[in-house]
Amino acid sequence: MTDLQTQQRDGRPSGRPHVVIIGAGFGGLSAAKALRHAPVDVTLVDRRNYHLFQPLLYQVATAGLSPAQIASPIRRIVSGQKNIAVLMEKVVGVDKERREVVTSGRRIPYDYLVIGTGARHAYFGNDQWEQFAPGLKKIDEATEIRRRILLAFEKAEASQDESERQRLLTFVVVGGGPTGVEMAGAIAELAHRTIIADFRHINPAETKIILVEAGSRILTSFPEHLSASAARQLAKLGVTLKMETAVTSCDVQGIALKDGSRIETATIIWAAGVMASPAGKWLDAPSDRAGRVMVDAMLHPPGADNIFVVGDTAAVTDANGIVVPGVAPAAKQMGHYAARSILALLKDEKPRPFSYRNYGNLATIGRKSAVADFGRFTLSGFLAWLTWGFAHIWFLIGFRNRLIVFLDWIMAYVTFERGARLITGGEN
Ligand SMILES: Cc1cc2nc3c(=O)[nH]c(=O)nc-3n(C[C@H](O)[C@H](O)[C@H](O)COP(=O)(O)OP(=O)(O)OC[C@H]3O[C@@H](n4cnc5c(N)ncnc54)[C@H](O)[C@@H]3O)c2cc1C
Repeated sequence: MTDLQTQQRDGRPSGRPHVVIIGAGFGGLSAAKALRHAPVDVTLVDRRNYHLFQPLLYQVATAGLSPAQIASPIRRIVSGQKNIAVLMEKVVGVDKERREVVTSGRRIPYDYLVIGTGARHAYFGNDQWEQFAPGLKKIDEATEIRRRILLAFEKAEASQDESERQRLLTFVVVGGGPTGVEMAGAIAELAHRTIIADFRHINPAETKIILVEAGSRILTSFPEHLSASAARQLAKLGVTLKMETAVTSCDVQGIALKDGSRIETATIIWAAGVMASPAGKWLDAPSDRAGRVMVDAMLHPPGADNIFVVGDTAAVTDANGIVVPGVAPAAKQMGHYAARSILALLKDEKPRPFSYRNYGNLATIGRKSAVADFGRFTLSGFLAWLTWGFAHIWFLIGFRNRLIVFLDWIMAYVTFERGARLITGGEN
């Protein structure tokens, strides 16, 4: 066992400054990698043993990819980095006075702390809806959604009751952000193109995919003309949009809407609302309505210059007054910035405030359409889809995953096939 491993196992690193990073998401990993050659010891703590590429979770939920294709073991990702040790533990608090990270089993001392614990979906105070309308943040949730979607088709095929069959063939996605749009498009393709030839009693025309959005347009983070283009592309795929319609309740039979109407459905997918991890509570720091820790442009919570909060857990306005969005590239940039700042602080230099660089905003709609906003120019349709595909494959961690996902997509594109159509888990 190396010195670093012994020290970190015992939670008392000595000699070099100790950087603890909580969360091996986009932000945490980026910080860890940027400290590769730094004269520090790093402990990377995550409750899971893998890094998850969340942007492709919807592909797992709709049977396009398998879980292992969008996840990589954290240990393997950082195995070549000698100054880093990985701990699989769930953090439950931070003791700022004693400079210790608290897990259920130990206390880990730190000199510098980077928190990148991400976010979850929020039900606006109606957590009881989750059982009827799962969200999409974890692999387990993606495979549960896949199970519900595929099971609905199986039950519809077997059903003798016309109204029950219609209920089973109705899929509701709540939330018109990128995840909701991606889910609705992918379910439409699955239903109308991929699996329908495999059933004998289901009429494709009976399958309804309804996207419910409380606001007046979908994809509000995109310019209006791209929202309109996305709406048209969804309509072409057979998705019905219900705009300016808030959800008032979800139950086992369906969903009730604010306009007084009700949709009978067996499958609701929640893609509305985000709630950050409880880092704000750990730090006793002010948080915004989504629970994100309000940090300054150096990514510090008030009064803690040795703590950095990065990624979806942080609410930050950067040096240029830009409100940094909750997307993967922003998390990566923040993680990298935190590492550079730690290096500067070690040299007694003053770090410059964080500036976010927006390289573009992309959302896909089915297997050959997307919208892309690059600020100076925008794209929609097939070219945007190609850009989206290459961007996502490029950012997939690990060459093996990249290659496998690429080959799977080529196959799926040519054949309409979705190879991961497995119903697993549950009691069926
Ligand atoms: C379905 C979906 C689709 C998306 N699509 C896109 C997209 O197309 N493009 C894009 O740019 N962004 C997309 N995003 C957003 C993007 O994934 C996030 O902005 C990004 O993952 C944020 O990175 P992060 O490092 O802050 O957190 P995460 O990547 O969420 O990582 C957080 C890490 O912290 C760990 N953790 C959490 N709590 C604890 C704890 N208590 N103890 C120990 N470890 C803990 C988690 O296990 C996880 O590994 C999507 C998100 C979702 C959910």
